[in-house]
Amino acid sequence: MTDAATEKAQAAHAGLEAPRTIVVIGGGQAAGWVVKTLRKEGFDGRLVMIADEVHLPYERPPLSKAVLAGEADIDTVRLVKPDDFDALNVEAWQPDCASAIDREQRIVRTQSGRDVQYDRLVIATGGAARKLPDALVKTSHVTYLRTLDEAVALGERLRASKRVLVVGGGWIGLEVAATARKLGVDATVVEGAPRLCARSLPPMVSGFLLELHRANGVDVRLNASLVKLEDHPHDANRIRATFADGSTLDADFAVAGIGLTPHTALAEAAGVKVDDGIVVDHFGATDDPRIFACGDVANHPSAWLKRRVRLESWANAQNQAISTAKALLGTFEPYADIPWFWSDQYDVNLQILGDIPGDAQLAVRGDLPGKRATLFHLEDGAIRGVIAINTPRELKLSRKWMNQGRSIDLATLTDASTALA
Ligand SMILES: Cc1cc2nc3c(=O)[nH]c(=O)nc-3n(C[C@H](O)[C@H](O)[C@H](O)COP(=O)(O)OP(=O)(O)OC[C@H]3O[C@@H](n4cnc5c(N)ncnc54)[C@H](O)[C@@H]3O)c2cc1C
Repeated sequence: MTDAATEKAQAAHAGLEAPRTIVVIGGGQAAGWVVKTLRKEGFDGRLVMIADEVHLPYERPPLSKAVLAGEADIDTVRLVKPDDFDALNVEAWQPDCASAIDREQRIVRTQSGRDVQYDRLVIATGGAARKLPDALVKTSHVTYLRTLDEAVALGERLRASKRVLVVGGGWIGLEVAATARKLGVDATVVEGAPRLCARSLPPMVSGFLLELHRANGVDVRLNASLVKLEDHPHDANRIRATFADGSTLDADFAVAGIGLTPHTALAEAAGVKVDDGIVVDHFGATDDPRIFACGDVANHPSAWLKRRVRLESWANAQNQAISTAKALLGTFEPYADIPWFWSDQYDVNLQILGDIPGDAQLAVRGDLPGKRATLFHLEDGAIRGVIAINTPRELKLSRKWMNQGRSIDLATLTDASTALA
């Protein structure tokens, strides 16, 4: 990040009056961190949060894990306890949906007919689970997973089922399959690509996940091109999937985990720049100095990746929101975290930190088939990216070295008999 970028952000801020009313659209993790941080940083003006879910801000990672398994409920996933949220003195307009932004008059309108004038606006609208094409789906027995209510309903349905069809071999699909197996439900995962999580993992780790799921009894079908999902011809309470090669598969119902569509329509309609997410700078500011965005919906310049990116991760939703809230009040701390994501499947905790190109030559430390290994992508003797499989301590150390830009000796790194220190 350049000093010029900070100077530009500071100049835009200096040209505006101090905010008295801040409006936040969205009620997820990013929105929650924005309102928390604004109050922590001393903002004592009017704070309005417009959110279309009934629940106060909560964290989504447990939805495909403990909540789905029936081991956790709303109280374990809340970002802020109800009493602490009351203390923040936020006008939570929920459930209500922001339907338009009038930039000229600086007004946000909602579906229920309310409106509010803002001095600053934060769009933290996240995204929705991408839907299968209508032309393919001829049954009502297809579900998606994004919200707490969906997770609870899906968990109940899983517990009442014998076989689930999971469409999509990405993170959500694989976590749902793992939880289904935990509940004793048979699971088939169908993936159109030749390998699992192909967008975020190198082939070696896709192969590891494939083995992991097959070993846990999941029927994983790669290169599977789904052409139809319909009611079972003899039982309308079940489904039948048909594939391009003519084969069919029967299940009680299907869950599709095929990606996320960012909620950018509001911003786009208001003329805010959108390009795979709302385009923001290092401080969350859009091309309108009064409007900011953060979390899954924002596309930001990543200092680590050296390119623009829209991240869908817990850490991004929290830390980008904190940086954005501070910038709203004139404290410019660029959001420059190394991208970090984790997933839990069966007895495996997998974490990805930094940059792992699909064709990266990975240095392996430990025993991948034995489910305890750290894989490093090095560039010019320094770590650019890490995949840690049940090795959280090594991930923590790597993060420290990456932030320090430290040079690493490859032989030491890959010698698992020498402790990393
Ligand atoms: C099942 C699941 C499991 C996950 N597991 C992991 C994990 O293991 N590790 C990890 O790093 N990340 C994980 N994630 C990703 C992480 O949870 C997200 O990156 C994070 O929730 C993004 O937060 P957000 O606030 O940007 O968006 P969201 O959480 O989507 O929140 C946005 C909110 O705004 C609301 N909204 C949208 N439009 C409007 C409008 N016009 N008016 C009012 N409200 C509106 C939405 O309904 C939503 O409630 C997981 C996500 C899911 C769904």
